[in-house]
Amino acid sequence: MRTQTPKPVQVCGKHESRDLRRGVLFVAAAMILMAGQSLVAQQLTIPPRANNTNYRKEPFRIIGDIYWVGHTEIGAYLIKTPAGSILMDTTSLEQSEWVRENLDKLGVKMKDIKILINSHEHAEHMAGLAKFKQLSGAKLIASKPTADQLAVGGRTDFRENGSEQYPPVKADQIIEDGGKVQLGGTVLTAHLTPGHSKGCTTWTTTVEEDGRKYNVVWVCVMTPSGPDRAPLINNAKYPNIVEDYQRSFAFLTSIPCDVCLYTRATNMKLAEKQARLEKGEKPNPFIDPAGCKPIIKEAEDLFNKLLAEQRTAAKIQE
Ligand SMILES: [Zn+2]
Repeated sequence: MRTQTPKPVQVCGKHESRDLRRGVLFVAAAMILMAGQSLVAQQLTIPPRANNTNYRKEPFRIIGDIYWVGHTEIGAYLIKTPAGSILMDTTSLEQSEWVRENLDKLGVKMKDIKILINSHEHAEHMAGLAKFKQLSGAKLIASKPTADQLAVGGRTDFRENGSEQYPPVKADQIIEDGGKVQLGGTVLTAHLTPGHSKGCTTWTTTVEEDGRKYNVVWVCVMTPSGPDRAPLINNAKYPNIVEDYQRSFAFLTSIPCDVCLYTRATNMKLAEKQARLEKGEKPNPFIDPAGCKPIIKEAEDLFNKLLAEQRTAAKIQE
């Protein structure tokens, strides 16, 4: 899913001047003193576009050793182990700085990050990978299609026009479908679920909470981008896109899932579940075996609708 993540120096889509930016920062600093509430200041220092819902957010433990270190909308996950940490996704280049701050708040230094992985190769989810790799020295592990695109900064992304989408970065290790990432006793399994992107990777693991084990699934985004950017029929840049989507949907609806995690907070009801968690609800409200179904079904319904429309349009043109 590619929405335009706002850049810190944009207001209503226009680049603001450095002076204006300083002014905004000054006003924001004054608001901190006046209101004493950091959230107000954060929303002012990063002026959003009208439809933006992605603000800085405090990190918190979801379940087991899995932490949300992303923002109010775009996700990033920390998985702590006794041998160091795994970071999944970084968010955009600009907002990855918020991820760094969240790691710091959890007492995790950059050198503690041993492995970097990602959900899929779209800038708003992983453009900070090059920076994080450089700062941490962590091993970057990615699927082959993802690694190919990371190496050229997304220039080969089938949805794009050949321009660089994010700072290029070289993967240190390719992970195959079913391959495992292991660190400090934690095992994450990669499942290639292409369609939304060629390298889209769904990750699974198990966690223990209150003496019981649960299957955790980080579902890769399955939402089609629409015919203008990613046609499902006669897509010369991605001829087998329909088959990939169908295979991915079949896989995702077949796997056991007790805890559904996602790259977007709204879809996974992050705020609602976090509020219940903070009230002490037992069992952990993130344990929700029905949680993944609406996310996958919504994407699959849209995919089928777009496919039917595009097949009809193609027949009319014949
Ligand atoms: Zn995407």
